[in-house]
Amino acid sequence: MNTDQIVIIGGGHAAAAICVALSEAGLGHRIHLVSEEQELPYHRPPLSKSFLKKLDEAITPHKASTWYAEKGIQIHLCDPAVFIDRKARNVMLRSGVALAYQHLVIATGTRARTLNALPPSVSNVHLLRNAAHARSLRTRLNEMVSAGRGLTVLGGGFIGLEIAASARQLGLEVTVLEVAPRLLGRSVSAMMAEHVLEHHISMGTTIQIGVQIDGYELLENQLRSMQVNGNRMVVDEMLLGIGAFPETQLASDCGLSVDNGIVVDAYMRTSDPAILAIGDCVAFSTADGGRLRLESVQNANDQARTATATLLGQEEPYVSVPWFWSEQGSMRLQMAGLLPPSFETIRRPGANANSFSLFHMVGDKLLCAESVNAPLDHMMSRKLIEKRMQLNPSTLADPSIPLKSLFN
Ligand SMILES: Cc1cc2nc3c(=O)[nH]c(=O)nc-3n(C[C@H](O)[C@H](O)[C@H](O)COP(=O)(O)OP(=O)(O)OC[C@H]3O[C@@H](n4cnc5c(N)ncnc54)[C@H](O)[C@@H]3O)c2cc1C
Repeated sequence: MNTDQIVIIGGGHAAAAICVALSEAGLGHRIHLVSEEQELPYHRPPLSKSFLKKLDEAITPHKASTWYAEKGIQIHLCDPAVFIDRKARNVMLRSGVALAYQHLVIATGTRARTLNALPPSVSNVHLLRNAAHARSLRTRLNEMVSAGRGLTVLGGGFIGLEIAASARQLGLEVTVLEVAPRLLGRSVSAMMAEHVLEHHISMGTTIQIGVQIDGYELLENQLRSMQVNGNRMVVDEMLLGIGAFPETQLASDCGLSVDNGIVVDAYMRTSDPAILAIGDCVAFSTADGGRLRLESVQNANDQARTATATLLGQEEPYVSVPWFWSEQGSMRLQMAGLLPPSFETIRRPGANANSFSLFHMVGDKLLCAESVNAPLDHMMSRKLIEKRMQLNPSTLADPSIPLKSLFN
């Protein structure tokens, strides 16, 4: 039995990124990658964007199977880890295979939230979290175009809004229902949420916010209607975009500390030093002593790098400035930093009416930037936030002063 193996549980962005980083350090031959999915790790962001709109677009793997073979990485697909024996230091897979580990990395991501009122067998209610969901949703959306059926999106978060925009671009009638008083309540400023709302309305999407939804009417395995603010709304097809929860079952079953995510320190170590965790499934320690869980590609990639440094004995704490992007029709929204509880906002106009940035400041420091169709602003904001520079609000608001010049 090999006693120096590194077992990685999960087949997503974080798992792919740590395979790359460990291989660059010459450790590929020690890795076992375990995924419940049937494909190699692939890029998830296109699934709610271009993939839904183009019937011929393929799932894009991070690396080809030949790359894994060259690096000596052993892959276990369609074979989820079902149990971690911390005492014996091995992971049991559904197939009965037991993998011994010296180090274990958990990168199990999140699972889409569902509604208790809707059994999983309801055939016209969809989720979008993985390639299998995306294939089935794409087929359905394209059938709906010819049948003239409409899509109801439950949830005005990033995934719901991206799918709403893609469906509109396919020509479907789309209604978005959000129970909170505004869109993207957990993620963007109120000012940006207002812009996003106007953008979707301009695309022809019907959006209802602050609604109360109940009274789901099911017939022959289909959702037929529901009560929205007490009125019956007929449903052709529905997409549930009501968020995701961290996949922590394996971790809690084996006694690791879990609190809205697998609890890790700034080096990605769980409460068992032989086990690290990275990506959407972790709640990590922040510099101010708090705890945070993020769902983004940046977070998955950067935590994979931090975990690699830990495994190589070159401990570097995780201190990256968070950033994120979303594409909703013609709007590319990019965010850098985190919104503080209270802040002053400076608006910087962009090159045209559909482009601008919002800079959220505390005193003379930029803590968060939201940019719409302004990629340069976004890139510069990341640097400004990272450097914690003193900034003059009138300079930031003036589009004739390039942000780059602030570094001189
Ligand atoms: C449709 C969609 C669009 C997105 N768009 C954007 C975007 O535009 N920008 C952005 O920054 N982020 C976006 N995200 C979020 C981004 O994809 C995630 O933050 C990122 O994938 C997190 O990587 P991860 O490896 O932590 O988790 P995931 O990529 O979710 O991977 C987790 C993997 O673990 C596997 N797994 C779970 N349990 C087990 C088990 N017991 N055994 C084996 N395998 C298991 C899962 O099947 C999955 O393959 C999007 C996500 C989705 C779903």
